[in-house]
Amino acid sequence: MTKPKAYIINGLSLEDIRNRNEPRVVQVLREELPNARNFCGCRLCVEDAYASAMNHITPHYSQTGSIVLRRDPGDEEIRKQVVEALARVGAHPKHPAEPVPLPTSSNF
Ligand SMILES: [Zn+2]
Repeated sequence: MTKPKAYIINGLSLEDIRNRNEPRVVQVLREELPNARNFCGCRLCVEDAYASAMNHITPHYSQTGSIVLRRDPGDEEIRKQVVEALARVGAHPKHPAEPVPLPTSSNF
C-alpha cells in the first residue's frame, strides 16, 4: 500500500505514529453506544461522537510497538468523555432532519 504523502518527511513515513487513545475510544464507543439515549447511530453521528470524544481527551502519540509504562489518560477518563460526547451529539445531532439518499448512477 502506498503511504499518504502528507505523512512523509525525508522519505520516512510518520503515519504509524498514532494517538494511542484512538482504539481505546473506539472500544468504549462500542460498549457505550447501546446505552446512549436519543442517539440515532447514523454514520455522521457516530463519527461526530468519536471526534468530539477525541477532542476532549489529551492526545497520547507514540510509535507503534513502543512500550507503554502508564496508560494516560485513565480508562475512567476515556469512558467519561465518550459518554459525554454521545450525550452532546444525541442532543444536537448534525445530521439533516430528513435522511439524505445516497447518490445512485441514475442521478448522473
Ligand atoms: Zn444521526
